[in-house]
Amino acid sequence: MACGKLVNIHAHLHTTQDVSATVRQWTADGVVKTCVLAEPSFWMPPNSTYMGNADVLKWRREFPDAIVGMGAVELGQNMGCPDDIRRLKDEGFEGLKFDMPSHPYDHDRYFPLYAAAEELHMPILFHTGYVARLEVSDRRCHPSSDYMRPFRLDRIARAFPNLPLIGAHLGLPHGHEALALLSLPNVYYDISGGGGQKPHLSKLKKALAPFPGADWDNPQENLALEQFKKLVFGTDNPPVSVWYPASEEILNYLHIPGETRELFYWKTAAAIFGWTGL
Ligand SMILES: [Zn+2]
Repeated sequence: MACGKLVNIHAHLHTTQDVSATVRQWTADGVVKTCVLAEPSFWMPPNSTYMGNADVLKWRREFPDAIVGMGAVELGQNMGCPDDIRRLKDEGFEGLKFDMPSHPYDHDRYFPLYAAAEELHMPILFHTGYVARLEVSDRRCHPSSDYMRPFRLDRIARAFPNLPLIGAHLGLPHGHEALALLSLPNVYYDISGGGGQKPHLSKLKKALAPFPGADWDNPQENLALEQFKKLVFGTDNPPVSVWYPASEEILNYLHIPGETRELFYWKTAAAIFGWTGL
């Protein structure tokens, strides 16, 4: 499926996947960069197929133009340290993935990590919003969706204004918090989630649509016209062939014009990472 130019800010690779074929498909789909998020091993169920730092790094080295490495840092009881982030940068990771904290994201214990990420210009993508049940690993890391609410990024964004923060999944079910934070210059959100299936798209439409009777082409009444300048394209686990039509459905529903679609599909993501000449 050729979709025009795309940057995918939120993707995963699995150890069961034919990665070379997957990357070839991304290129055929028009994707110029894919941010592959590594998952830290401490909270994953034993039979998880999500790639961690070592595997993501290996494939990033194989496909340095297509794959952008987003390194995982442990946020549990045995939390990582700024030196871990420096090492990830030295190894070639361009950004970070934060997920499953044992404390709220904006807890002081994590501030040295944010300071290191800001100093090293490594944007962070956070899981935000609801977390599905995790089977056995629930007991190992005691997760709470409340620790990952969109407003947990507020304090971080203000304390580290030069650190780009990308929240995942529009923070659903707290989309209103995610959208409010878009007014901070360094906060962005992706709208991936729910397998890209209809129930998730229904939640997105409800979170993003204007009030009944609004003029959908007036930016002061349909606020999504402005908000999509800071929302970014991502797929999570499904392929681009699921999320491109799903995104088009949302963009069409909300009357988003062509220039803003370009921002959503690739330009805003390129600006977050400082990529010129894509
Ligand atoms: Zn994900």
